[in-house]
Formats: sequence, C-alpha cells, structure tokens
Amino acid sequence: MIGLAERFGEKPFRGRQLFEWIHHRQVEEIAQIHNLPKRFLEQISERYIISGVQIRKKQASKTSETAKYLFSMSDGSLVESVWMKYHHGNSVCISSQVGCRMGCAFCASTLEGLSRNLTAGEMLSQIYEIQRETGERVSNVIVMGMGEPLDNYDNLLAFIRLASHEKGIRISQRSITVSTCGLVERMQRLMEEKLQITLAVSLHAPNDEIRQRIMPVAKKYGVEEIFSACRKYIDRTGRRITFEYCMIGGVNDRKEHAEELAGCLKGMNCHVNLIPLNDVKEREARRPREETIREFRKILEGRHINVTVRRELGGDIDAACGQLRNTYMDKG
Ligand code: SAH
Repeated sequence: MIGLAERFGEKPFRGRQLFEWIHHRQVEEIAQIHNLPKRFLEQISERYIISGVQIRKKQASKTSETAKYLFSMSDGSLVESVWMKYHHGNSVCISSQVGCRMGCAFCASTLEGLSRNLTAGEMLSQIYEIQRETGERVSNVIVMGMGEPLDNYDNLLAFIRLASHEKGIRISQRSITVSTCGLVERMQRLMEEKLQITLAVSLHAPNDEIRQRIMPVAKKYGVEEIFSACRKYIDRTGRRITFEYCMIGGVNDRKEHAEELAGCLKGMNCHVNLIPLNDVKEREARRPREETIREFRKILEGRHINVTVRRELGGDIDAACGQLRNTYMDKG
C-alpha cells in the first residue's frame, strides 16, 4: 500500500492509512474511506475495487456450533467457508480456489474442475465477513476449504502475510494451517519462506499404488518424494507436519495399511489426523465401520505415532471435509 500511495505521489503514511481502512476497519468499498485526500481516493477508485466476498447464505448446524457460509464474489463466482466455534477459540475453514483441478476421487470440490484462483483479498474477506456476521473474533484459520492452496501459491502467500500482519486482523501464523495434496516443488518453496504456519499434507494412503487409485496427483509425486520433502520441511522450519488420512472403506483402511503407514512415519515429527470419509453423493466411496477406524488408530498409537480422529463437525449441512462446493445445493 505504501508503494501504491507513492505511485500516486502521496506520502508513505497515506499508504499505511489505506491499509488500516481496508484490513483493520475492513471497509467494503473505497467510498467508505474518508480521512484521505479526495484526489487520491478518486484515482484509486478509478483503477481498483476492494475485492471482497458477500454472504449469500448461511446454514447453521443443529448438531454442533458450526455454520457454513456461501459467498459470492464480484464476478458472480461462489465459494463456501465453514465457521467452527470451540471453547479455545473460533476457527474458520476458507476456500482458496473456485473449484479445484486436483481430481481426488472422493472429494466434492473437484467435481466441476477449476474455474479460477481466489485473490488474497477474497481469502481474507471470508474471515472478515464471518467475524462481522458472528460478532466474534476468529483466532484460527484453516485453508482446507475448496481448492488446492499451493496451486494458488502467490495469492496464498500474500494472504498469509496479510492475515498475520500486525496492523491487520493479527492472526498468529501458528494458528494458520494450510492443507495440500502434496505438490512437492511448492512445498519446497514454502519451506524457504520463513513462515510459522502448520502444513497439513493429504496423504490418504501409505503407498503409491493405493494413492494413485484415489488421487491423480500421486502419479506426479510418489510418497517417498513427499516424505523426503516433509522431512526437509520439518528440519528447515522446526514445525511439525500433520498428515491427513481420509479413511475409505475397503480402500486404505486395513491393518496392514496402518502398519505400512507407521513404518513410513517412524521418527518423523508429525501428527496423523484420521478423517472418516464424509459422504459425497456423486461419489461411490463409503466410510469404514467405527471399529475399523478404532483398530487403525490403535495400531498407529502402538507404534508411537501421534494420532487423532477428526471430529466431524457440520456433517448435517454438508460442511465437513470434502463436501464444499462452488454450486448451491439444497439439502433434501
Ligand atoms: N486441496 C487441499 C485441501 C482440500 S480439503 C488438500 O488436498 O489437502 C481438506 C481435506 O479434506 C483434504 O485432506 C481432503 O483430501 C479431505 N477430503 C476430501 N474429500 C473428503 C471426503 N469426502 N471426506 C473426508 N475428507 C475429505
């Protein structure tokens, strides 16, 4: 913003004021800004808009303090975000793209392919709007909604820097989690950015054979390559990695898969998050029985791997992992 002010012949502090209007006071239009020179405001409103999102619909879960928001953007595109209230703070799960081109076989977000990337402003604005609507502060952000965040790298980075900026909404980087299906070159780039965020890697299988069956991206990057990038990531950043493992009945849920996974992760500073598959009506895959999930977890624990089973929030409003879309669907 300082650069922007200077380009229009204004002093740097004008740029700082503009930043404050947008990211601290969170105005939705340039017309709402007042204590800046009129000429400067005219010049920027001829060339720029504040590219936010607008709430189109909110669905509140009956079973948990979770709500799903449908947002529209200036070009009419739609994305969804999820708000989750916990006693230790509120989390928002935001989308980073309209659609997704990764093609995972069990996910709803990729059914229509990718239509476009979100700007950093559109990612931030999902949080601003939810804070405004709920009247509560958001303390945790997970970039796990629709889209592959590392496929929209530059905007993601700008988003992280703005969200954690001391003059903005000041979300600590340690409270930001970014989830990727494992784009190795991008992970390598990310580890050099000196960020304190948590990286979550969607693994979903202990070997290439199973992974390739459910995730097209696995044909490009093998599990060994992913593990080696993860080890380096942990080394470079000092941050623990989370592995997400979506449990799909009859596909990746057998005892030997748990054993194989434990072998791969031995000695790594990581955490495994088991996600029982959430239903996506166009998809065939089903979740395993409770008992199968329990056994899988026990095997990992027995091998001293940190493991949790993700609590399902918002399943009744299709707001759980893998259920977010860019089209509006009525329940029924
Ligand atoms: N593109 C990113 C973020 C996407 S979604 C990534 O792949 O990590 C966040 C998590 O939900 C991912 O681990 C994703 O694989 C998982 N997921 C997708 N569909 C799911 C479903 N139907 N049930 C449970 N988890 C699912």
